[in-house]
Amino acid sequence: MELPSNLFDALQRIQGFLPETGAVLHEPRFVGNESKYVQDCIATGWVSSVGSYVDRFESDLAAYTGVKRAVVVANGTVALQVALELADVRPGDEVLIPTLSFIATANAVMHAGATPHFVDSEEKSLGIDVPKLSAYLDSVAEKTSVGVINKKTGKRIAAIVPVHIFGHPVDLDALLDLGRKWGLVVLEDAAESLGSLYQGKHTGSFGRLSAVSFNGNKIVTSGGGGAILTQDEALGKRAKHLTTTAKIPHAWEFVHDEVGYNFRLTNLAAALGCAQLEQISTFVEKKRRLADEYRSLLKGISGFKLLQEPSYSKSNYWLNALVLDTSFQKHRDDFIQRAHEMKVGVRPVWKLLHSLKMYRDCPRSDLSVAEKLERSVICLPSSPFLAGGRRT
Ligand SMILES: *Cc1c(COP(=O)(O)O)cnc(C)c1O
Repeated sequence: MELPSNLFDALQRIQGFLPETGAVLHEPRFVGNESKYVQDCIATGWVSSVGSYVDRFESDLAAYTGVKRAVVVANGTVALQVALELADVRPGDEVLIPTLSFIATANAVMHAGATPHFVDSEEKSLGIDVPKLSAYLDSVAEKTSVGVINKKTGKRIAAIVPVHIFGHPVDLDALLDLGRKWGLVVLEDAAESLGSLYQGKHTGSFGRLSAVSFNGNKIVTSGGGGAILTQDEALGKRAKHLTTTAKIPHAWEFVHDEVGYNFRLTNLAAALGCAQLEQISTFVEKKRRLADEYRSLLKGISGFKLLQEPSYSKSNYWLNALVLDTSFQKHRDDFIQRAHEMKVGVRPVWKLLHSLKMYRDCPRSDLSVAEKLERSVICLPSSPFLAGGRRT
């Protein structure tokens, strides 16, 4: 199929804006204290599961996001898994998650022994459509003495996990209200939204527990890593204990009081993370500038919209995305193919989770908006250093 001229025009403008060598979707840059802190780990021998950078990364994260406690762990997926377990999600339970998310959200629910129950998204934030979820719960759920029961499956619905897709915050007030109404705990998957604000406060500080990620493609990276955030000191303490083999502190005895996990982040990784976190304000600023630049670059071209932060929020714009108009959806794959030939590293949004073979039989609501979004969302190269455009 020939690419329509408006979409080709958009691609050409993007290509002209990006470095001559092209650009991938997202890549890290280490221009701060990364080498210094990592060298320090090597010089002192503190490279492994304890060390001063682990403690510092945790306190820096808590201070930055405004939570009482941050516990760093091996990755964002296990952060979410442990958050679910600490929120008393039990084997056999169902957990409400958007079908439009990265695979980790569903996998964490499964690793916690529960079943994902997929819900729909809305077009503004790409996050959970709260009014639609509310109407859905009214039709399928029942509040009983043992919790909220799914009338179709007979299982307990234990939690809601909103995901702040591409950094854009979900309407948290509405979602937290819905959680309170039903007695359902809200856990934020804030893996993509570190640095994003909902009504002036950090995403990740609203849920009973939240998960963030420091994977290599996220806004700050520790090589690989994640964190559990919480406003509840006792839960924070439990999170640390459970993710560090549940060992009772003692100078030499090995006493463990439950089946814990070895989900610790290494001091080496934490050192990288500390140096990256020092720069997060600059990264957020640059990403927001890049979003503005894409907006002016593509102004006047019809056929798609650039995704914009919801009015109640200040987004970290982790990934910039364009949403094709319905009549141009059929050109999505050609657009992506053509972009790759032009070294413009665009990507489609994830395949919807409920369509993957492991999750095909899971309970779900109507998912028509997510299905439409799946066909129309294309992510653009979004590394912070792309802000400012081609420098020749
Ligand atoms: C990256 C990501 C995760 C998981 O993080 P990892 O550190 O890669 O395990 C979870 N949820 C979402 C939405 C993500 O984008």
